[in-house]
Amino acid sequence: MTSISSAELLITTFGSGPAPQITKAPGRVNLIGEHTDYNDGYVLPFAIDRTTEIALRPRSDRTVHACSTAFRGVAELELPIAESTPTGEWHDYLIGILLELSHHVEFPHGFDVAISSSVPLRAGLSSSAALEVALALALTRLYGIGLDDVEFVRLCQRAEVEFVGTSCGIMDQYASLLAQDGSALLLDVATMTHRHVPIDLEDTSFLVVDSTVRRELSHSGYNERRRECQEALNWLRDTLPERRLRSLSELTMRELDDVKYRMPELLCRRAAHVVSENERVRRTTEALVNGEASTVGELLYASHASLRDQYEVSTPELDFLVEWGARNGALGARLVGGGFGGTTLHLVSSYEKRRYVEGIVDAYKRETGKRADVWGVRPSPGARQLNEEEDR
Ligand code: ADP
Ligand code: MG
Repeated sequence: MTSISSAELLITTFGSGPAPQITKAPGRVNLIGEHTDYNDGYVLPFAIDRTTEIALRPRSDRTVHACSTAFRGVAELELPIAESTPTGEWHDYLIGILLELSHHVEFPHGFDVAISSSVPLRAGLSSSAALEVALALALTRLYGIGLDDVEFVRLCQRAEVEFVGTSCGIMDQYASLLAQDGSALLLDVATMTHRHVPIDLEDTSFLVVDSTVRRELSHSGYNERRRECQEALNWLRDTLPERRLRSLSELTMRELDDVKYRMPELLCRRAAHVVSENERVRRTTEALVNGEASTVGELLYASHASLRDQYEVSTPELDFLVEWGARNGALGARLVGGGFGGTTLHLVSSYEKRRYVEGIVDAYKRETGKRADVWGVRPSPGARQLNEEEDR
């Protein structure tokens, strides 16, 4: 999105000085496992080759100055942050992180920070988690705060949920911090444990195709699905008390089949999506291990069908993009993210990539009159400090 580095931005905005600490954190895409995270299930994201980079330099006073290539102006804050309410501006994310860190440190001094990012904003690639993770990594280091990985990602998530006010699961921050180059990260949300699954699908590429349509419904729809899952779980707990279910993800398809004639139809479909999606994550992991690109692709299509029919979070635009893929040689495609608009992920032959991108952009324009944004994404490493070695 931008070519100016965070270090250059720091110098042009705040003047020259000692070399800044540089920290990078990537955006992510979720290969499969949609709407499973808040049901304590499995997700399989990978970090992408687009990152948010921050350059940070301590100050001697307790002031914070922050700027970003994505927005005009400089935000100025005084530490410690007083009780504050979000303003809807981008530095809410910084304030959220600082409020969380205030439980661990008294902020002996402030800092200047400049942010430069190649993660497109609000395109479902989690620029927000990339920003939180980069900031928190730089600041825990600056103030000498020791957190384990799970505490760290939870802190970033709390900053977003509790201060910024977006309901998000833990997957984005987890993937941005802990992903490995060339791999997906299989996260078991119930236990907060993960393993890396190499993505080695010969001659294939991943494309993110953004419908560029955001529905008003996306926030309320997401909350409604969460509520429906809770209702489905309550119904199952009442009906199968001996199972002592802690989440929908503990249920099997067979158990659901046994009760489905008694269960309210809508709740049954919501539960069916969650149970089958967890199974698709498991099978996708297996297919990745075996290098079976066509099986991965079929599972992506199956995930989309389930999100469309059982979970009902798709839109005509997202269906169009996925169906176009199916007619034009994509190995697989599905909507990614919460749904109600947003983005699709396509697995295509690397040789066909260029033709595919041109074709889908054209077709989408003809069908909807709208422009689709397309990004090629590669499984990439998680967050890192760039000048760690020199500083030791
Ligand atoms: P997504 O995470 O899908 O990109 P969100 O709406 O969750 O979309 O987060 C986008 C918001 O995060 C932006 O509107 C902005 O407030 C903040 N943000 C993300 N990246 C940056 C950045 N590089 N500089 C400043 N703010 C950013
Ligand atoms: Mg986000």
